[in-house]
Amino acid sequence: MKRLISFVIKHIPRKYLQLFAHFGAKFLGLFYLGNKVECNVCHHSYREFLPYGRKPPRSNALCPNCLTLERHRLMWMYLQEKTDFFSAPKKVLHVAPELCFIKRFEAMDNLEYITGDIESPLAKVKMDVHEIPFEANSFDAVFCNHVMEHVEDDIKAMSEIRRVLKPGGFAIMQSPQDMSREETYEDPTITDPKAREEAFWQSDHVRLFGRDYGKRLEKAGFDVIEDDFVKQLPAEVVHQYGLPAEEIVYFCKK
Ligand SMILES: [Zn+2]
Repeated sequence: MKRLISFVIKHIPRKYLQLFAHFGAKFLGLFYLGNKVECNVCHHSYREFLPYGRKPPRSNALCPNCLTLERHRLMWMYLQEKTDFFSAPKKVLHVAPELCFIKRFEAMDNLEYITGDIESPLAKVKMDVHEIPFEANSFDAVFCNHVMEHVEDDIKAMSEIRRVLKPGGFAIMQSPQDMSREETYEDPTITDPKAREEAFWQSDHVRLFGRDYGKRLEKAGFDVIEDDFVKQLPAEVVHQYGLPAEEIVYFCKK
C-alpha cells in the first residue's frame, strides 16, 4: 500500500492528483474503518489515517474522507484554538488553496473568501505570488502553505503577502523545513529535477528551509510568533488527530 501511494504521488502531476485523489482515498478508507483516530476537519474516524509521502511514506497521515494531512489538521486546530477565524468577519486570501479546505471555507458565513494560484485549477484568481494583484491592506488573513520552497524569491513573495494584509491581520505560510539545518540552503545553479530532489527534497523545490525560516519571514517585515503549539498537546491527542509532532506554526502578524 505504501509503495503504491508513493508511486502515484511521484508519477501523476500534482494538479490531477488534487482533482482525482479523493475518489481513490475514499475507496482505500474502506480498509481503514475504525475509531482510533479522528479527523478534526471532517469528523470521520478510522483505525488509522492512510500513509502518505515518499522516501518512505509516513504512516497515519492522510484522511481518506477529506484528504487532510497532518499539517492541515494542525492548522485547523490552531485556527480554532488561537484565532477568531471561525467567528469574526474576515476577508481571506488563500494562495495555492488546499482541496480539503476550499469548500469548508467557502461555506463559512463570516468569510469573504478568495482563492488564488499561478496554475492550480482549484483557484479562482490566476496570480503570481511575487506580484499579488490586490491593493495593499486588503485582507484580514492570508494562507499560503507549501509555496515558499517553490518560488524564485521567497522574501519578495512573503513581502507581497504582508503588503496585501491589513494592519493587525495575520498570515500562515508553513513550509517544509530541515530542522537539522541552521540556515536555509539555496543554490540557483541546481536546476536539474533529480538534483533538486536530492538537494531540496522535491524535484520542483528551489530551496530547503532550515531553522532560520522564521527569520526570513521577519526579513519580509512580519512580526513572527514561532508557536510550538503541538508540543504542548498530550501525546494521545497528537496521535488521535494525526498531527505533525515536530511542526512549529509560524504565526505572522502585520
Ligand atoms: Zn477528514
